[in-house]
Amino acid sequence: MQKLKKYLPSLVIFGIFETIAITLWLTKNNLFYLFNFTYIGGFLALGLALYANRYKYARQVVQLGVGLYMLVYLGLCCNENMQIEGFWYYLFLGVFEAATIHYAVAKIFGPVLFGRGWCGYACWTAMVLDFLPYKQPVSPRKKLGFIRYITFGLALAFVSALFLFQVKQLEKIMFWSFLIGNVLYYAAGIGLAFAFKDNRAFCKYICPITVFLKPASYFSLMRIKVDADACVGCGKCRQVCPMNVDMLDPSRKRENGTECILCMNCVDACPKKAVKL
Ligand code: SF4
Ligand code: SF4
Ligand code: SF4
Repeated sequence: MQKLKKYLPSLVIFGIFETIAITLWLTKNNLFYLFNFTYIGGFLALGLALYANRYKYARQVVQLGVGLYMLVYLGLCCNENMQIEGFWYYLFLGVFEAATIHYAVAKIFGPVLFGRGWCGYACWTAMVLDFLPYKQPVSPRKKLGFIRYITFGLALAFVSALFLFQVKQLEKIMFWSFLIGNVLYYAAGIGLAFAFKDNRAFCKYICPITVFLKPASYFSLMRIKVDADACVGCGKCRQVCPMNVDMLDPSRKRENGTECILCMNCVDACPKKAVKL
């Protein structure tokens, strides 16, 4: 019974992904969905099981397993542009396939359930950024979040222009935009991490995908809570947060309500076990 309780989150997450996998496989008559969602759900379940066994690198295992699959297999081998330009491209084509389904599940509606879990466990940009040396930001958040709306607008304008001007060879252009976009994201992400001494600076200020992620994650069912009776106010939880979240403030005001990536650093750091998911 104790074992079942320990692995319950792992089993629940696998069950959710398997339900999505089977539903899409049967409704869209495409075996890819069975493989895709079983693979992702399997890695998430494995990560949760490793975390339950206090394995230090549980999150990194999931990040690498899912992130590399998305970047290398779906992006480079299958020519599926999974970046935000790819989402607009498939949406404008009226195709509800891998990229559009991926955005709907992981980034637009799914965050109502699991917040910004995508950013903590699956994003292939953050998969690299999290290896950089500034795991805990040395200074408070800067007021640069407006930049994400500019990058979001530029991505939408780029794809709209391709359709408006009826540019030919769209598939080829989208493949190259995937490659170039990723190089730019990595360059900007690594450059900002060193400039601001903050691995997640790109996530906080530049990433256009947060425009999708934030609204639903505001209502996320999964969120960090602090037991005020157990807390002794040592502040260790805040020190280790890569996203400058003040988890001691229970309100869902903008910064706290939509920035947590569920990395569990604060849960692990609390000496009184007052921080819980
Ligand atoms: S904010 Fe953007 S770059 Fe950062 S983890 Fe989330 S999706 Fe990836
Ligand atoms: S680490 Fe735990 S005890 Fe310390 S301030 Fe945070 S919640 Fe309170
Ligand atoms: S340290 Fe805690 S509050 Fe900060 S992102 Fe990780 S789980 Fe969320």
